Amino acid sequence: MDSRGVVFDIKEFSVFDGPGIRTTVFFKGCPLRCRWCHNPEGLKFTPELMVSHGSCTRCGRCVGVCPGTAPGSAEACTHCGRCVGVCPLGLRRICGLEYGAGELAEKLLKDAGYLRSVGGGYTISGGEPTGQPEFLVELLRRLRGNHRAVETSGFCSEEIFLSMLEEVELVMMDLKLINGHLHRRYTGQDNGMILENLNRLKRNAKPFVIRIPLIPGVNDTEENLRAAADMLRDTKALINVELLPYHKTAGAKYTMVGMEYDPGFDIDRALNPDTHIFLERGIPCVVL
Ligand code: SF4
Ligand code: SF4
Repeated sequence: MDSRGVVFDIKEFSVFDGPGIRTTVFFKGCPLRCRWCHNPEGLKFTPELMVSHGSCTRCGRCVGVCPGTAPGSAEACTHCGRCVGVCPLGLRRICGLEYGAGELAEKLLKDAGYLRSVGGGYTISGGEPTGQPEFLVELLRRLRGNHRAVETSGFCSEEIFLSMLEEVELVMMDLKLINGHLHRRYTGQDNGMILENLNRLKRNAKPFVIRIPLIPGVNDTEENLRAAADMLRDTKALINVELLPYHKTAGAKYTMVGMEYDPGFDIDRALNPDTHIFLERGIPCVVL
């Protein structure tokens, strides 16, 4: 079997996605719509056109070659790629490449010896990796013998979560909001499945890290952090909690994929990166 999937980036020499030096593969597509997402090009599951409009001189070359019904517009684009090569300023690119799992593993494994020698490995991130489950599990299987990590929101079925868990050495799971109503409001989805998968992770012996993207006034409240800390207390396999402060630049890429950035919270509000709530419960916690 060679499952196929769409990847929007492959980053080599990554040092923030697990132990050692790693190659991180970003799967395209995510079922959540977090209002603070800084990777809008990872939301859709299909390839799409990205355009840096800022320095466009309106020379019209891209419009001239476009076979679409509304030439050059992101909405009508079929991501044929014809306009990419004609832009004299290189402002256009197709984001998202389709790979077979075997083909991608072969490409990645060329660096396996080096990555193993520096205590690193491979991390599958996104988007949401579990959104392409067959592709994910097959790729992980083909990377066996190396250190494999997955960065996930945990928003997937039990079956998918457990099959992913079998094929990794480390899970890095996001925990955004414990309050279900707020979770729906800020991510567009219920958190029931996420919390069930967190419980599965806690029962499993697989090492894991919890990552909390800290969003001003949304989930950096004492109430949310305390609820998260209580949930994680006395969990042997938990390595640590990492707090990731929101960056005001998160909205920078939205216009490039024809979207509008509408965070729905005060991006200028001061953050509350409170590690003590975790530390006083015996949970190692750092701010990244
Ligand atoms: S990639 Fe999209 S905008 Fe560019 S030529 Fe093809 S259809 Fe037109
Ligand atoms: S080809 Fe490039 S510079 Fe010319 S109109 Fe298209 S995006 Fe702008």
